[in-house]
Amino acid sequence: MPDSVLNAIARAATDFNDPSFRAAYANCMNGLKSLVGTRHHLFMYTSSGHGAWEGTMSNLIARDETVLMVESGLHSDDWAILCAGVGIKVEHLRADRRCGVDVESLRATLIADREFRIKAVCVVHNETATGVMVAIPALRKAIDDSGHPALFIVDAVSSIGCSEVRMDNWRVDALIGSSQKGLMQPVGLGFTAVNEAALARHRSIDAPKGYFNWSVMLDRAQRSFSGTAPNNLLFGLSEALRLMQEEGLSNLYERHRRLARGVRAAVRAWSGDGGPQEYCLDADRASDSVTAILMPEGWDAEPLRALLRQRFNVLLASGLGDLFSRTFRIGHMGDLNEAMVLGVLSCIELGMRALGVPHSPGGVAAALDAFAANTRHQRR
Ligand SMILES: *Cc1c(COP(=O)(O)O)cnc(C)c1O
Repeated sequence: MPDSVLNAIARAATDFNDPSFRAAYANCMNGLKSLVGTRHHLFMYTSSGHGAWEGTMSNLIARDETVLMVESGLHSDDWAILCAGVGIKVEHLRADRRCGVDVESLRATLIADREFRIKAVCVVHNETATGVMVAIPALRKAIDDSGHPALFIVDAVSSIGCSEVRMDNWRVDALIGSSQKGLMQPVGLGFTAVNEAALARHRSIDAPKGYFNWSVMLDRAQRSFSGTAPNNLLFGLSEALRLMQEEGLSNLYERHRRLARGVRAAVRAWSGDGGPQEYCLDADRASDSVTAILMPEGWDAEPLRALLRQRFNVLLASGLGDLFSRTFRIGHMGDLNEAMVLGVLSCIELGMRALGVPHSPGGVAAALDAFAANTRHQRR
């Protein structure tokens, strides 16, 4: 999180009619829409990503209707559990978690659903647990080719702000995001961008009338939120969006891609001699937000994480779900640069030496090579 974002958050709360708050609110609404590539409406909630899932699903899918959940990892599992919890039936499209879904299997599943029982296809764009990112246009094409009318609902929580997201161009009907990943905020602001087809479906079903009710939000002056908006988060987000615009979106995504490539070059070098490996097996689907790393057979990731935390103040993300001790993750999203990535990679290499974890040396050197190929002298 950039200092200027932290400073923007650290201020006294204002009234929601205060001009400074209104301006920040408008910046967030317009900036988010432009960042995710939509002209349509966007609903915001004071919530985590789980809240944004619930808000989206309960507004679009009635009780006992069915959705197709495309398997990706812990987040598709948890999203499915949440759907079931609010009374939605879930059909699972199975996938190899180290490669991501087979596009043809999505097309075939939809063709087989002749009665159109499936009301929505739910996909996690970037699976934060595995570091596998699927191409949304290819999945959209599979839905189109099947002739199926299901809505297309995409969780872009950990791709927004790191990789290109073009909701309208990709014809996504509802796009889910949350503040605490590439948007460089604390947790607490969830949102859904919703096109006309999705809004029409919302109006046609008997949706629950609680906290997340979009119809009630549309009647409010702000056309979003139930109750008080998270004032300080919106000041922070407004500043973060300003920074992203200042950097330029193509530079922002190129920086994430460059840093991710450096991380992957290091892991590939380490993987010799029975060392740790990239969890993602499809190089074309490797995430630019996060890399999940599979420990060598028989080695637990936790001692390495503990050593880095205690000795070097470096926090590696843990594996998620059943990958907890089998993997660790390097987050490379948000406000970071080569120096920070190289620091983390160096400490991992040092930690593996200290603990005797099998690996081929030279990961840091491989990252330097990757960065050197992409370092031009730039005046800012
Ligand atoms: C973080 C994350 C979420 C939401 O998680 P919360 O902890 O509920 O905010 C949802 N989907 C993906 C892909 C995520 O990375």
